[in-house]
Amino acid sequence: MDIPAGCTRRNDPTTAVKYLSTVGRSAPATLSAAIGVGLADDGGLFVPEVFPTFQSSDFARVESLVEVATILLSPFFSGDEMESELAAICHDAFSFPVPLRPLPYKPSLAVLELFHGPTAAFKDVGARFLAACLQRLEQQAAKPLKVLVATSGDTGGAVAAAFHQRPGIEVYVLYPAGLVSPRQEKQLTCWDDNVHVFRVGGVFDDCQRLVKEAFASSELRSVQRLTSANSISIGRLLPQSVYYAAAALWHWREYGRKASFVVPTGNLGNAVAGIWARHMGLPIDRIVLATNANRTIPDYLETGRWEPRQSLATLASAMDVGNPSNMERLRHLHPDVKTLNEQVSAWAVSDEQIRNQIKLDYEQHDQLWCPHTATAAYVHDHYLANGGSTQDHILVATAHPAKFETVIEPLIEKEISMPPALAKLMHLPSCFTDLSPDYAAFQQVLRQA
Ligand SMILES: *Cc1c(COP(=O)(O)O)cnc(C)c1O
Repeated sequence: MDIPAGCTRRNDPTTAVKYLSTVGRSAPATLSAAIGVGLADDGGLFVPEVFPTFQSSDFARVESLVEVATILLSPFFSGDEMESELAAICHDAFSFPVPLRPLPYKPSLAVLELFHGPTAAFKDVGARFLAACLQRLEQQAAKPLKVLVATSGDTGGAVAAAFHQRPGIEVYVLYPAGLVSPRQEKQLTCWDDNVHVFRVGGVFDDCQRLVKEAFASSELRSVQRLTSANSISIGRLLPQSVYYAAAALWHWREYGRKASFVVPTGNLGNAVAGIWARHMGLPIDRIVLATNANRTIPDYLETGRWEPRQSLATLASAMDVGNPSNMERLRHLHPDVKTLNEQVSAWAVSDEQIRNQIKLDYEQHDQLWCPHTATAAYVHDHYLANGGSTQDHILVATAHPAKFETVIEPLIEKEISMPPALAKLMHLPSCFTDLSPDYAAFQQVLRQA
């Protein structure tokens, strides 16, 4: 196997990787500390101080995702208190398949299906890994850790599923009443045990405000141990690099060529993990970002000016982000937009284009996309496939279309059947508590037990 270009640095396994804040005013943290607190105390996001570099030969004879994960993540765990647990954590987290499926109707295109986990979206990977880490960090704790999550739909379900029945951890999920789909609501409310779910009489911002107020209360924090399972946690980001690495290696072995990934993007959590995998020397050509009508990122790549804005509501709702938080991590890695443009490109896709892509691929190829994945398919077909390019592309499929039946079914005029893991949840009883959107009520809840 050839060595992909750009492999100069090697990691030194004897020194532990430190994690720095993107703001730069917090002391460096160990991996365990960074995962435990979520956000640095200066408000920044944690990034590794140095990245290890890999060659394809480091993964020789490796087949399974768990093995790729253990090798790729080992330098990040080196010297940390969780180091000896890494293999067990990877086994625990990578418990469902992530197939790379060729598309029979387009020879140079494949799909990386990230939706075979318990809640049928890619967030299952990061949430499960974070839960596996926190469970191990919590073994000695005298008091349970309370994980707080405000959700507009997808994140809460993945976090609830990942933490369900983990000893030493209680989960508090807040979602806005009437503003999540019936299937999403089921995925939020079907867990019970250590997962406490609150239907808040308000909008998503109310849920987020309640969680933020709880974190800001030093009085509450002096009696309770609180953390967040928000997508900015490094414990959710690192494991996402694993599926990029694995897919790139499988493609490289099969064709001897680097693949480019087309990634549906909102907060840039998924995409930054791919950019990190590329940075570590995995055989990846370009990372192509597909956004919905929220075009903060494509505009930045074009103009060099970072202009966050209010988010617009679109059909690809899990990507409705006007101020992508992981941009801080990207700019930390590539402060210069010119360097970024050499490896990353981005296009915005409108609702109308999403609808057309879903309809067309279904009618012509019997291929169904969720509205998020449809943005990637659109970008591929309209901006990448032309021009006689010999490039190989991998579409990153972030969710199963059956999760978004209210968008898809009217377009294709047919019912979509659910994957078995999701269908199983639909038969469980729902359990939740109604909560008014004022902090006093939430504080009361958190004080109990
Ligand atoms: C969260 C989500 C996205 C966006 O991922 P980011 O990491 O925020 O860019 C895309 N698709 C689906 C289905 C999601 O749930």
